[in-house]
Amino acid sequence: MGDHEQKFVTEAFETNWIAPIGPHVDAFEREFCQTVGANHAAAVTSGTAALHLALKLVGVGVGDEVFCSSLTFSASANPIAYLGAKPVFIDSDKISWNMDPNLLVAALEQKAKLGKLPKAVILVHLYGQSADIDPILKACNHYGVTMIEDAAEALGATYKGRSPGTFGKIGIFSFNGNKIITTSGGGMLVSEDPEMTAKARFWATQSRDPAPHYQHSEIGYNYRLSNVLAGIGRGQLMVLKDRVAARRRNCEIYEQALGDVPGIEFMPEAAWGLSTRWLTCLTIDPTAFGADREQVRLALADAQIEARPVWKPLHLQPIFQDSECFGGEVSEDLFDRGLCLPSGSNLTDEELDRVIQAILKVRSSAGVKVAASVIS
Ligand SMILES: *Cc1c(COP(=O)(O)O)cnc(C)c1O
Repeated sequence: MGDHEQKFVTEAFETNWIAPIGPHVDAFEREFCQTVGANHAAAVTSGTAALHLALKLVGVGVGDEVFCSSLTFSASANPIAYLGAKPVFIDSDKISWNMDPNLLVAALEQKAKLGKLPKAVILVHLYGQSADIDPILKACNHYGVTMIEDAAEALGATYKGRSPGTFGKIGIFSFNGNKIITTSGGGMLVSEDPEMTAKARFWATQSRDPAPHYQHSEIGYNYRLSNVLAGIGRGQLMVLKDRVAARRRNCEIYEQALGDVPGIEFMPEAAWGLSTRWLTCLTIDPTAFGADREQVRLALADAQIEARPVWKPLHLQPIFQDSECFGGEVSEDLFDRGLCLPSGSNLTDEELDRVIQAILKVRSSAGVKVAASVIS
């Protein structure tokens, strides 16, 4: 937490606005819009809830197909299933690890020929880095398919000077505990279209019709963000820039120490914008490095350092394994060889060095083994 969250929370208590409505919610929406350069926003309980509402807003329903990046967290695709629609996954490119624009074009072309275009494309911006939005948006516009952006991991990033999440019809963000800023749990839906955010707020507050009694003409959800948590969010927005700087600094320190080690390659930062480096990710080539990703991860775990494989592609997940997927080799390889390093914005230099030394130690002990096996 920064210096202001407690003050906003205290204000919520003192004014007795302990509800999923109140002045902090309104202010958080306004201030979030200013931060990302959006016109309208609706604060909700999670990024997943925001994506559920986004898909419903663009009319996704039973039997529809929705394209989605394959290399991502399951929450990017689960809301497709909530609505009875079918996910179709698109593989990553190697420049950004995000949706490959060429594969998307090929997939849209093929679906257009079959007369079965998807209802929407969910474009995910992974690990703090924007996807290559322009060609993807162009392809979507060409086929009249709506683009929704999952920018849950990319708050603070840029694409050609603008915030990812503000290019599509709707963008969603997350303030879960692990994200770059947090309200413990929370999400935001942004759109240029005020009718979209108004409808999202309506559905998110149980679809209450304007009447003195409780009247409902539509199914509703309990998705609105608490005024207490919105207060935390207002304080967190004030430190977003610091958090981005701290995450980028982590990555720089890791890269300085490990960037030249044979077999280690950091997730590239694409030329079109600024990555927040929400997580510092790298890939390990086992032949060149002398140990594979899993050996490195387990050696770190032995040293009480938590590191995780890169997202398991959704087309490989048991729950989605029967779904269609265009491509797949790139994300499969990233999953096979990719590792996310400890990346918290409060890591000290000593802690970063401990991670670095633990990785280098795997290499030197593996080197000994390799040499020994060559001799025998
Ligand atoms: C965290 C995350 C979500 C979901 O956000 P919640 O607020 O946790 O529901 C969706 N997509 C991606 C890519 C995420 O990382």
